[in-house]
Parts: sequence; structure tokens; C-alpha cells
Amino acid sequence: MSSKESKNFIELIIESDLAEGKFPEGIKTRFPPEPNGYLHIGHAKSIVLNFGLTQKYKGTTNLRFDDTNPETESTEYVESIKRDIKWLGYDWEEREYYTSDYFDQLYDFATKLIRGGLAYVDDSNTETIQSQKGAVGQAGTESPYRNRSVEENLDLFERMKAGEFQEGSRVLRAKIDMASPNMHMRDPVIYRIKRMPHHRTGSRWNIYPMYDFAHGQSDSIEEITHSLCTLEFENHRPLYNWLIEKLGIYPSRQIEFARLNLNYTVMSKRKLLLLVQKGLVSGWDDPRMPTISGMRNRGYSPASIRAFCERVGIAKRDNVIDMSLLEFCVREDLNKIADRRMAVLDPVKLIIENYPEGQEEWLPAENNPEDDSAGSRELPFSKELYIEREDFMEDPPKKFFRLAPGRNVRLKHAYILHCTGFERDEKGRLTEVRATYYPDSRSGSDISGIKAKGTLHWVSAKHAAEGVVHMYDRLFKVPEPLADKNVDFLEYFNEESHRIIKGVKLEPSLTEAQSLQPFQFLRKGYFVRNTIEHNGLPVFNMTVGLRDSWKK
Ligand code: ATP
Ligand code: MG
Repeated sequence: MSSKESKNFIELIIESDLAEGKFPEGIKTRFPPEPNGYLHIGHAKSIVLNFGLTQKYKGTTNLRFDDTNPETESTEYVESIKRDIKWLGYDWEEREYYTSDYFDQLYDFATKLIRGGLAYVDDSNTETIQSQKGAVGQAGTESPYRNRSVEENLDLFERMKAGEFQEGSRVLRAKIDMASPNMHMRDPVIYRIKRMPHHRTGSRWNIYPMYDFAHGQSDSIEEITHSLCTLEFENHRPLYNWLIEKLGIYPSRQIEFARLNLNYTVMSKRKLLLLVQKGLVSGWDDPRMPTISGMRNRGYSPASIRAFCERVGIAKRDNVIDMSLLEFCVREDLNKIADRRMAVLDPVKLIIENYPEGQEEWLPAENNPEDDSAGSRELPFSKELYIEREDFMEDPPKKFFRLAPGRNVRLKHAYILHCTGFERDEKGRLTEVRATYYPDSRSGSDISGIKAKGTLHWVSAKHAAEGVVHMYDRLFKVPEPLADKNVDFLEYFNEESHRIIKGVKLEPSLTEAQSLQPFQFLRKGYFVRNTIEHNGLPVFNMTVGLRDSWKK
């Protein structure tokens, strides 16, 4: 896909590695989610990058659950992550790994550091360790426990593991350099006590490795050639390399790239969890969420998400991508794959005065003008139809090419009409539009010579199915809800981001739509069949409008 485009800097690194003959057996990447939430579109970028590279160059990609934090992790999240990666179109085959499977090996690595005089047990509490860290440009102070003997350290670490000590009472730290200009090198904590059962290892462990120790060492255990991570880990790299060197393990190479940010939403699992917990959305898979499962329910296709990630590309600097680019990619794909249907969201009756009472016709209608193989269906036509309320105006401006007294309009796949009148109730609300039709003007066999500038969608009243439509808008009212540190981002939540429309009139074939099947409702946008019904009625979720309505 990216062959036409210029190569990104990671591809250039890999190509030069391969040119040097470095990885004759192929490259290895991994996607390492922490199972503490559902995947979002930012993760999709990482998935597309990691799996994409090993599809392009010979190699394999591992799925590794980075499960070192028992408090926030669960198997529900593990399952959702697997479902979402598969749905996106990627396959890790049998390479499903868990950092927790490496706990014994990681423990051995830690004791190896201790034996080499490169790690020590610190009895200080978190605050003390923090206060000894120093600051940028100002060296830290060494812990009084820094020069414990190897024997004492081994003994204490063993007893930490055995559960003899309270949480927070001791940690294991790497012994590096308290004066290093890189704060991550100032004797970082690599193990902590946590008396908490883990979703996979149960209560076997009382100590858990810190991210920096677990993550890098897991890369080496799996012999990952290129370990791709987001920019915030750039200054963790010296520690990553230090551990590889001191442990003498497989030298994975860490390469950082810019994380994906999208406007009008947030991209952190912790923040998304807040939206779920506060009940502002129906769950992680609410169609407004930037999660992969939310986007699936919204009707985004896997191909469109992949195309978006490719288009955004890989950068070395953080930036915020416009939501309309994602929607563009969604529209571009759905235009090719979505069948066209007619649905009237705000119906008003249209009576065709000269159409015989009781007569009905079934008119052929192509499913997708972009795809001949999509075939066609038949639409019932009769004397009483529904059209959109907004498609009629009593006294319209000149450029209004819809229905108005005395004007002509074509009904899609059907006839040209001439509007003869309308009725309102005592409150002035339009209740009915009246028209006559030109019998010779049928689409495909029009011999009438009559002209009409506009074309409307419609459904036959007698044949219409009733349905419910969920309309969605941006999740937040401002483009960057996190920009102002003094305002709680939840204050920017868009209360009007979800609207339910009942009494929608659907062409009858829509009742047969499959769950999650995408459609273009003519002139209205893309919609997808919801996985659940509403009191026995079919529900459709709005995916995206037909054109960019954000940039007004
Ligand atoms: P969050 O901040 O949402 O919790 P995370 O980085 O903590 O995200 P992980 O489960 O640790 O989530 O991430 C798994 C992989 O996905 C990591 O390699 C991470 O760098 C990558 N990733 C996470 N968010 C983004 C993003 N916005 N853009 C690109 N990659 C991302
Ligand atoms: Mg994380």
C-alpha cells in the first residue's frame, strides 16, 4: 500500500538493517497492549505499523499482553483486545504471549543484576525515593541502602518475593547513576511489592516488575528485532539499552514514533474508562468512543481504519490529526462497499392524486452504482408515499430543487412528480403533500420529455417498515478537550452527541439487513444496522454523513 508513497523512517532503518544482512531469518515486531482497557484508534495505528512492517518485509509480529499491573487488568480486556485485532484484519497466529509468563525469567534477571552489584533493595518509602531523585540539572542523592551487600540484597529480594513484607515497604532498584542527566537512569525502581492477585498468575507473586524492566526484557526474551513505541519512551531508551547490556541478553532495538492524537476526542484508556464509569457513554463500545469496538458499532470498516493509519503515516513529532480525515477514509471505503437504500428520517405523507388506488409496482433499483456485482432489488411504489419533511417548501427560493407547489421533482428509481398542493394542521405543521405523476417518466424508460432538477428519496407508505435511528455527533465540544490543564475534560463532554430518532420509515428490504451491515441511506449518509433491536424494531446507527459537515 505504501509502495507508491515515500518510505517512513522506520522502513528506512529496517531496509538498511536488511541490506547489511542483519536479520536473515526475518524481522520481529510485537504489539504489546496492557489489558487495562479496550483498544482505541491510537492502538490501531500501532497495530497497523507493527503487523504492516512484517507483512511488507519478511517477518512475524507477536501479540504480547503487558500484564504487570494486577490492579487494573482483566481477562475481559484480554478478550476484547484479541477480538479487535482480528477484526482489524491481523493475525498473530500462535504467538500470543504474556509478560506474566516471563515472571520467573524476569525474577532471574533481577537476581543476576543483584549478583553483579547492579541492583539493591531499598527500604525507603516512595516519598523518600522521590525526594532523593533530584531535579533536572541537579543531581539526586544516593539512598542509604545503596551499598548493601550482594548477600543481603539477595536475601531481602527473596523475602520480598515470599511475601514477608508489606506493600510499599521496600523496592528493588537498579544501581546506575544518581547524577545522570537522564532521570530514568537515577537508580530506577524495577520491582515493587504488590499483595494483589493477578488475573493469570493468581496469588503466586507478591512482587511485580515495573514497566521498564518488564517491557524491555520481554522484548529480548522474544528476540524482537525492532521494538516500536511512542515518543514518550524516548528517554527510557538509555535504560532499555543499559539493561540489555548488563544482562547480556538479545539486543532488541527500541525506535520511537509519534502517537496518534485526534481532535474532538481523547485517546487515553484511563480517560475513556472515566467516560464509561460516569455513564456518559453506554460502554467502551459506544459508537461515539474512539475505541475500535466503538468504531465497529458506528459502522467504520476495518479497511477504512487501516487506510486512515497508513495515510496519517509515521512521524517523529507529535501532532493532532483532524477527525475529518478519519471520516474521509470511512466514506471512501463505504462508498465502495455499502448498498444503497432509502430511509425517510422525518416523514411526511405524499399523495399521488392520479395514481390508481390499490395499484402497486415493484421498480428495479441498483444496490450500488460503484459496484455492478452488488446487483439490484425491487422497490414497491404506490399511491401514498413518505418523503422527508424538509424536502417540501411552500414558498421556496429559486435554487430549491425539491418539492414546492407547481414544481417538478424526480423520485429516485421512479417517476417525475408535479406538486399540486399541501395541507397543514391547525398548528401550521405540514401534514401532507399532494402531487400528480407523469406515467411516461419512469426511471430507465423515461419517454416523457419532462424535466426535473432534483431527485428525492422516498418509501411507499403501505410497504414501509418502521425503524429507529441513532444519530451521533462529536464526543467533545472542543477540538482539544485536554488542552486546558485547569479544566476537567469531562466538562467539555458533548451532551448532544447522541440523539434517537423514532418513527423512521424504511424501505422493506432493510428489515433483512444483517447485524453490522453498512448502508448508504440515499441523501442522508452512511448507516449501519445495530446489533440490537429497539422494542422489536430494527435500529440503524449513523456512521458518517455523505460529505464533510464539520468544516462549515
Ligand atoms: P493509553 O495511554 O491509552 O493507556 P498506552 O500506551 O498506555 O495507551 P498500551 O496498552 O500500553 O497503552 O499500548 C500498547 C501499544 O500501543 C504501545 O506500543 C503503545 O505505544 C501503542 N499506543 C498507545 N496509544 C497510542 C497512540 N495514541 N498512538 C500510537 N500508538 C499508541
Ligand atoms: Mg500503558
